[in-house]
Amino acid sequence: MIENLEYIKKFGLKEFVANEKMRWTCPECGGTICVHGGACSSCGKKKE
Ligand SMILES: [Zn+2]
Repeated sequence: MIENLEYIKKFGLKEFVANEKMRWTCPECGGTICVHGGACSSCGKKKE
């Protein structure tokens, strides 16, 4: 979580949110990747 704060300080909140959104969006179907399980909630693809 400290890493996140450092990132926000460096790049700003807007950039941070965009980055997070990209991280948790499935590249296969655009679904939401579960933060805890690391797999897409729509197609089940696992995040590497
Ligand atoms: Zn998916």
